[in-house]
Amino acid sequence: MAPIPGSGLAKGLAVTLRTMTRKTVTEQYPDAQPELPPRTRGVIGLFEENCTVCMLCARECPDWCIYIDSHKETVPPAAPGGRERSRNVLDRFAIDFSLCMYCGICIEVCPFDALFWSPEFEYAETDIRDLTHERDKLREWMWTVPAPPALDPGAEEPKEIAAARKSAEKLAAAQAESAAQSESAAQAESAAQAESADQVQPQTEPAAEPPSSARPHTGTAAGPEPEPDTNRKPQEGES
Ligand code: SF4
Ligand code: SF4
Repeated sequence: MAPIPGSGLAKGLAVTLRTMTRKTVTEQYPDAQPELPPRTRGVIGLFEENCTVCMLCARECPDWCIYIDSHKETVPPAAPGGRERSRNVLDRFAIDFSLCMYCGICIEVCPFDALFWSPEFEYAETDIRDLTHERDKLREWMWTVPAPPALDPGAEEPKEIAAARKSAEKLAAAQAESAAQSESAAQAESAAQAESADQVQPQTEPAAEPPSSARPHTGTAAGPEPEPDTNRKPQEGES
């Protein structure tokens, strides 16, 4: 059956009329920032402190676009008589985002939670060589990683958070104990100082008056002068 002339135009106008009244979904980027979902794969952030240079991410990356350099350092023993340990120190960590295909394997395989997805996406470059980003830039992106969603009510506390909480509680208890010990030591020291100051203090009070029996006899205050004994026999040598 031959189509009715003008039916296509009518259909097109109907679609236009239907969508004219709907809310627009166009994002006005770059005038307005888009509202991205929390698990957006924008760029990879590196939390350097967690990285042990195990090289797992670089080995598992299908594009071989993670570059890591490191050297070994000897750490002195924690306790006297202990053994020295050696540890890897990170020298370079870079990702070439011109090769990266945003598969997320490196983030999944990292056993120490050192790599995270950040929703940051504004890092376009005009030169492809500038898309290799070094550890400082990856660290900057780390601070744009959104916080993980809250746990479901009644969910078991994650092992990492429980371990961190216990360490923080232990540290706070040790600090409180050492503060109490130093306070009691300071109190004992000040008490000892006060005691020694009492012992060396010079005698400032006036000396006690001697008893009346020890006072020199003047004959005035204690009554009349006794009469000389005229009947006393003079001793030898007396005139
Ligand atoms: S996201 Fe995939 S391709 Fe990109 S660096 Fe990680 S493992 Fe390599
Ligand atoms: S897998 Fe994680 S810990 Fe190992 S080198 Fe990569 S980022 Fe560092």
